[in-house]
Formats: sequence, structure tokens, C-alpha cells
Amino acid sequence: MPADLILHGGPIFGVEGADALAVRCKRVLAVGPAPDVLRLKGPETSLVPLRGRAVLPGFFDAHTHFIRVGLEQAFYVELRTAKSLAEALDRLRGAAAHREGWVVGRGWDESRWPEKRYLERSDLDRAVPRQPCYAMRVDGHMLAANTLALARCTRPEGEFVDRDLGHLREDAAWDLVRAARPDRETLIEAVAAASRHAASLGVTAVGDMAGSDHLGLYQAALRRGTLNTRVFVYPPADLLPSLRAVGLGRGFGSSLLAIQGVKAFADGSVGARTAALGAPYRGGQGTGQLLVERDALARLWREAEEAGLQLAVHAIGDRAIEEVLSAAELARVGPHARHRIEHLELPSPSQLDRVVSLSLVASMQPNFLQWSGPGGMYVERLGPERDSRIDPHREVLARGIPLAFGSDGMPMGPLYGIGLALDPPHPPQRVSWSESVRAYTEGAAYAAGAEKELGTIARGKRADLVVLSGDPARTPWGELEVDLTFLGGERVYSREATP
Ligand SMILES: [Zn+2]
Repeated sequence: MPADLILHGGPIFGVEGADALAVRCKRVLAVGPAPDVLRLKGPETSLVPLRGRAVLPGFFDAHTHFIRVGLEQAFYVELRTAKSLAEALDRLRGAAAHREGWVVGRGWDESRWPEKRYLERSDLDRAVPRQPCYAMRVDGHMLAANTLALARCTRPEGEFVDRDLGHLREDAAWDLVRAARPDRETLIEAVAAASRHAASLGVTAVGDMAGSDHLGLYQAALRRGTLNTRVFVYPPADLLPSLRAVGLGRGFGSSLLAIQGVKAFADGSVGARTAALGAPYRGGQGTGQLLVERDALARLWREAEEAGLQLAVHAIGDRAIEEVLSAAELARVGPHARHRIEHLELPSPSQLDRVVSLSLVASMQPNFLQWSGPGGMYVERLGPERDSRIDPHREVLARGIPLAFGSDGMPMGPLYGIGLALDPPHPPQRVSWSESVRAYTEGAAYAAGAEKELGTIARGKRADLVVLSGDPARTPWGELEVDLTFLGGERVYSREATP
């Protein structure tokens, strides 16, 4: 039986001496020197000449929020690239003029603005006076709302609710996000938009830190044939009792949509000053908040393990990481469960040693390096000493901790994230391009228990592939683009085909 597809004439990542690969029935049939592989050509085989361009395994974004990524393409007002507070307000004002109902902005980042302050209620009341409006900060842990939107907030004033400034944090923020939720059709369309966007970035699989009702939306997209990304879903840990009740364990689903585990939070974010720190934020503004107790987390850990599900715990600050490690020790988590710490931003060296003993996976986001270094948000919030220790990818790899890279959707895009990891502000953050690619492919597949099928280019594995515009061994990383993306041997993106 001849091959369905042959790519030839360029380096194949991770396979020494190979410059061609063949695909049959959605899987890699052969990898090796072109003369050998081209023998598998038949009359129907499509040929892709690489002309020196490298083939990588499809990128696997280990931690993202897929439907949010899709909504950002169409529904939300994009504020991440706003260069000032005034520009962010202009964009919201402009969007309000063209729609009825909620106006939702996402991704503002005051650390990049000349005004250097959070959006506030009074700003939003001026920009959007007649519709409910909120704007989520880039980290997703804090939002600013206008007066009409705040009327929906039923929580008492306190550490998560500041009505004067219009600031809602953590659970209080998520309540409002739910109140402003787009309709089901928009959400199903967002899955399709996210999948198209992912393909254009070379992403063929994601670990999705999902909302509790996202599975139904994915299923709808799957039925319509608009889901062309492998989604490994991690719903919120509150669903664990229901998942246990029906006996769903990790891997349940299909090759495109599977339940892998559940997600819990130990703290918030540095940007929203809710990450739990051992020492106060710079300027004496508290030490953030722990969102879970050690005993409760240990119980959750045991229950997840009994259910055969991974637990992925969000922990950013050193105090949150301490709590998570102590809970894992208390629960005596096993090495086979492959539990994950999400973000792991400010670990101490001894905490990293404990990550090794517990066989936890480090799920980290090199995108966060955009806020590290002189003049960056981490220096402003944490001071230069803690900034120099944040996101220590090198220290993680040096200990042999399994490292999975993801984007957290800030923004999605492995080429961007890897670019930051190669050239970071501080040495403990530096990794090579091939180590980064591994973390964004093999490492992420391992983190989702999918390394037998995905993450490397090898005979028998699924033919999820990316062709870059050059060879990273010869071309500066920042000049590379994604030329082609294949999912199971099917072309799901071609740069030439896009206008
Ligand atoms: Zn996240």
C-alpha cells in the first residue's frame, strides 16, 4: 500500500539523518532518508517538497482556554494590544456603538500603558454608558465593570469586590463573566474559530482548562466537523463528584476530544495581586490569597486519583506552591497519576526538588516572560530579586522535571512563546530552541497522557505535523513562520492559501 502523503527534502525534528516522512491512514508510515521514503510513493500520493524547511510535530499547547481564544477572534473587544488606557476605552466605545447588550473587553494590561493604572468603573461608565460592560485584565483574574454591569454583582463588598473602583477579582469576576455569557450558537462558532486560529499557529492539540459546560459545545462542533484540533479537556474540579458518579476516567472520549482530568486553583495571579506570596507585594500591598486549604486539596487529590483522573492545580506564588506540594505529600500522590502544577511561576529550589519527588509535571507558559525583566510588571509587583527567579524553565529541566509548555491564551502561539524562552531577561529562564520545541510537543503530550500517540514524529504515531518556513537550526527563530499544518495527515492550514 503506497503512502497518502510524503514530505521530503527538509530536516525532520527529533529524527537524526531523516529528511522525509510518509503518512498513511492518518499516521506516520515511515521517517528516514528521502530515497528510502520516496519508494513508498504511489500514483495517488501527494508530495510536499520541503526545500530545506523543517517539519516539527504539531504543537501541543498544554494549557489554554480554547473557547476564550475563539471568542477573542470574533466576540470580545480585543484590548491586549491597546497601547494606552485611552485607546482601550476608545475600542470599547467603538464596539458599543455597533452592538446591543453586553460589551466585553479582554486582555487589558495596565503595566504596558503610560497611565500605569487599572481600568476603573468611572472610565467604563464614560465609554459605555448605556450597556452593561466589563473588561477582563490580561491574566483573567480581575476585571473592571461599569455601573450597569456591577448591578449584576450580588457578592458583598470585600477583598474580591470593590464597587467604587468597579473591580471584581477571582470568583466575583467569574460570576459576572457567566452573567455576560454569549449564546450557545456563538459559543459553538467560537470552537470553530479557535480551531482555525490554532491551525494557523501550528497548534494541533491543546490542554483546555475548560468551563463546566464546554464539553457539550465541543461535541456540537465535532458533529458539525468544525473541530480540527485535539482537545484534552480539564473541567473545573467541582465537577469531580459527577465525573466519578458516571465513572469517567482519563482518556475517555475520542482522538479529537477527551476528558483528561480536572483543574483546581490554589491562588490567583501576580498581575491582579492575588497570587499567594510568602512575602508581601512590593509596596506592602498584602501577600495575595490562597484559594484552597491544604486538607481540602489533599482530599481532592485522592479523589481525582481514585477516579483515574489527573488533577491540574494552578499555583503561581511561592506560598501557593508550598500549599500544593504539602497537599500532594499529604495525599501521597502516586507517580503514575501524572498530576500537574499549572504555571509554577515562583518556586524555590527546594520546592522544585519536591516537585521531582512527587513526580509532578510542570505545566509552564513562556509567554509570561513578556512581563519579566527591567521595567516589567513582575519587577513592579515583586521587586527585582523575585523577578529574577520567576519562571525558571532551566532549573526545571536541569532537575529532569517533565516540562510542558503552553500559552494560557496570552496570546496563543508557540512561535511567540518559544521566542521568549530562548531570549529571556534572566539566565534561569533560558532554554534552547530544541528544548522549547520538545516542551511544546513531547512534553505537553506527556502532560496529557498522550505521548504514545502524539508529541514526536515516529512510525505509527498520529501524523500531526507542522512545516515551518525555514530550519530553526539555521534561521533565527524570530524570522520563522508556520507554512503548513497537518492534523492526522490532513492539511488544516496553508499559509499560501490565506489572503
Ligand atoms: Zn489558565
